[in-house]
Amino acid sequence: MNENFIDQKYIEEILKEANSVCADNAFIINSLDKAQCGETLTHKEIASLLKTENPDHIKRIFEIAGDIKKRIYGNRIVMFAPLYVSDFCVNRCAYCSFNHNNNFNRRKLSMDEIREEVKILEMMGHKRLAIEAGENDNECPIDYIIECIKTIYDMKFENGEIRRVNVNIAATTIENYRKLKEAGIGTYILFQETYHEPTYNRVHFSGPKKDFLWHLNAFDRAQDAGIDDVGGGVLFGLADPYFDAMGLLLHNEHLEKKYNTGFHTISVPRLCPAAGMNINDFPNLTDDDTFAKIVACLRIAVPFTGMILSTRENHEMRKKLLHLGISQISAGSSTEVGGYTKRNNKEKLNPQFYVNDERSATSIISELMDDSYIPSFCTACYREGRTGDRFMSLAKSGQIGNVCLPNALMTLCEYSMDYGDDEFRKKTDIIIKNEIPQIKNETIRKKTIENMEKIRSGEGRDFFI
Ligand code: SAM
Repeated sequence: MNENFIDQKYIEEILKEANSVCADNAFIINSLDKAQCGETLTHKEIASLLKTENPDHIKRIFEIAGDIKKRIYGNRIVMFAPLYVSDFCVNRCAYCSFNHNNNFNRRKLSMDEIREEVKILEMMGHKRLAIEAGENDNECPIDYIIECIKTIYDMKFENGEIRRVNVNIAATTIENYRKLKEAGIGTYILFQETYHEPTYNRVHFSGPKKDFLWHLNAFDRAQDAGIDDVGGGVLFGLADPYFDAMGLLLHNEHLEKKYNTGFHTISVPRLCPAAGMNINDFPNLTDDDTFAKIVACLRIAVPFTGMILSTRENHEMRKKLLHLGISQISAGSSTEVGGYTKRNNKEKLNPQFYVNDERSATSIISELMDDSYIPSFCTACYREGRTGDRFMSLAKSGQIGNVCLPNALMTLCEYSMDYGDDEFRKKTDIIIKNEIPQIKNETIRKKTIENMEKIRSGEGRDFFI
């Protein structure tokens, strides 16, 4: 039975109240102090932080979000890339170029084409992919997606393999989610697009996705099928962004209450231009300042939930948001079916939307290191079965630094040996030298150093804790 756990009136009232509460300096300062001490904020407190326009408040929101980010995630940034496998779609969504009414040469990749794409992604150093597809049960049934996943996991390269395949496909049935679970997916990602039901109905003209409650309850079905690692998101630009930020939090709470595990990740895509739509037709486009404030408030509201930023954002915005809470980014992405192969052949197809950060994966990774971040290619939690509440208890126990940090360093060391030149390896060594003392557990610290020696000498690889 589909349940509507998003109370539109409640969110609207709380945001309305926040308009006046956010002028109450003492209330905001108290909420910020609570956030700084790691206390959970009430809906009213989060809504007021979202709504405040006071530059001093916003400055402090940014500082606290940055502190939380540092405390929980250190300098690690997890890397991934999307892999579009099919653009057949029966839905008509106002914002998407895969809209059924758009006329272009639709296609899905053959398994040989998947291998070609994955080869290129592997050459960029990626170990974690997100499969993306439009919704069309005839052209792109679940068994096709399962075959894609198997094909990817079966590929072995000189430098290892893709170790984690996340999946971002349309809301589906419990039976299909079971198949995804059996195929060994990482996170099942699905964006609600907007939690504001009237807007949802307006921008989804037709197709199965038009059913708000079917879409909203997708993670319940995924959880019922045994997938305890789910990633939510909204498409900022469709409805009031504050409403959608609160919607994300209510959705997360619903899952926590019912399944003891909320979102593993929250994605924060912002609407981009795409073929067949005019971005100026969307009255709720979210400006950079509002967007940054929302990202920081989400970081404060759900400190242990990873936050994902894609190449929809430009270089400058990505740099800024990394300080405010983002823990995972894509790099070198293509948003079209067959896009990696075609990019090498300099052909243009039909991207789902136009990206704003077209730098290569190498330059993104290298710049992260110049800014003292640790690009992480870690996929250990999922391979060790640390998903759902097991991951959350690890995160909340403060042990993340003894697990994620060594894994990040070992995978970066491996990346530098596989793909780096001398200069890159020197940069890696500096980062490793600076970060190693942060591993507080002595046994783990020694093991990490030992493993990195093995990676450097070619004696071993793919170590994780
Ligand atoms: N078909 C699946 C579904 O219905 O959820 C998969 C979604 S699609 C491959 C991935 C996401 O891209 C969508 O959920 C949507 O949020 C986002 N997207 C679509 N059009 C976009 C645009 N013009 N700008 C930015 N993101 C867009």
